[in-house]
Order: sequence, then structure tokens, then C-alpha cells
Amino acid sequence: EITDAREVVLQVFNNFKMIKPNFVFVLDDDLNGSTAVQMYRNHLEQVLIILLDNAVKYSTKRKEIHLSVAKNARYVDIAVQDFGEGISQSNIKRVFNRFYRVDKARSRDKGGNGLGLSIAQRLIEGYRGKLTVESVLGQGSVFRISLPIVQKHNDKSTRENENKEVEKHTD
Ligand code: ATP
Repeated sequence: EITDAREVVLQVFNNFKMIKPNFVFVLDDDLNGSTAVQMYRNHLEQVLIILLDNAVKYSTKRKEIHLSVAKNARYVDIAVQDFGEGISQSNIKRVFNRFYRVDKARSRDKGGNGLGLSIAQRLIEGYRGKLTVESVLGQGSVFRISLPIVQKHNDKSTRENENKEVEKHTD
């Protein structure tokens, strides 16, 4: 399935704006050109929801979340940035591990079981993308998704052939 990554970002951004009215959401996208990726729309949506849920969950003081979409010739880059509690350098290596949670006792009341990020990373890597994080304890975190762009053709017959190819290679 070919999905317009930017459109999914916009959709999830608008949904979070609606359901988290006490947060300020800022969207930075001044793109033109294709942001088509070969990925199920639901999968990208799911990953963005995991990242935004975390950004909300781990931002208690400064309730501001920035989303951005950028691209180069080969990749779409999506960033989710918060200004919340951040992650220390010693814990950052483990946040993508299954069941890992920083400071279990303190974060128990926040719910969750430490699966979100490991699922998100597996999904993205399954599409030959990357999910990475940079964070400063006490200042906030940026999670970055990078996904290969697929070339979209305007010619209908080419597109149909392309879709057949996609079906063959998807499992
Ligand atoms: P869930 O399975 O519901 O997502 P979770 O939030 O505990 O629960 P992950 O999403 O995998 O699980 O995150 C793992 C850990 O990484 C979290 O417990 C938290 O300590 C840390 N973490 C994740 N996102 C952030 C963030 N934006 N800011 C600070 N810490 C974070």
C-alpha cells in the first residue's frame, strides 16, 4: 500500500489537537513534492500515536509538542519533539527494548507496559526505515522517523503495474 506520510501526520496532529486541548501542538511542514511511502496507512498512524501518546504522558510541566515533516530526495523525515522530562543517556539505549520502562515505580501511575516504542521501532524497520531518539534529561526528547520515499507515477497504467508489484512483495 502506498501512503502519503504527510497526510497521515496531519491527520494524527489534528486528532491530538482535539483530544488534548491543554497541550499546544505546533506543526512544521513547508513541503512540496511527494511524501509517498510504501507502508500501510494504519501502521504509520499507529507509530505516530505511540510517539505522541508518550510525548503527552512524559510532559508534565511544559505542555508543548512539535511535529515536523521534511524530506530529501530519498527519505521522508518525521520528528516528534516534546519539552518534558527527557531520558538520561544511560537509559536512552534501552527505551526501544520490550517491557523496558525508565524508573518503573515512578512511571507506574502513568500506565503502559513498555511495549509501545519496541513495537513502533519494529514496524518502522519492517519498512526499511529508522526510528531514533535524542533526549536531554529534564529538557525533553525528539523521536525521529525516517522512511524511504517511493516514486509515484501520474500515468495510470504504470500505477496499476506498480500496485501489482506492491501486492506481490507485501506479506
Ligand atoms: P506503553 O507500552 O503503553 O507505550 P510505555 O510508555 O511505558 O508504555 P514505551 O512507549 O515503550 O512504553 O516507552 C518506554 C519508556 O521510555 C517509558 O516507560 C518512558 O520511561 C520512556 N519514554 C518514552 N517516551 C518518552 C518521552 N517522550 N519522554 C520521556 N521518556 C519517554
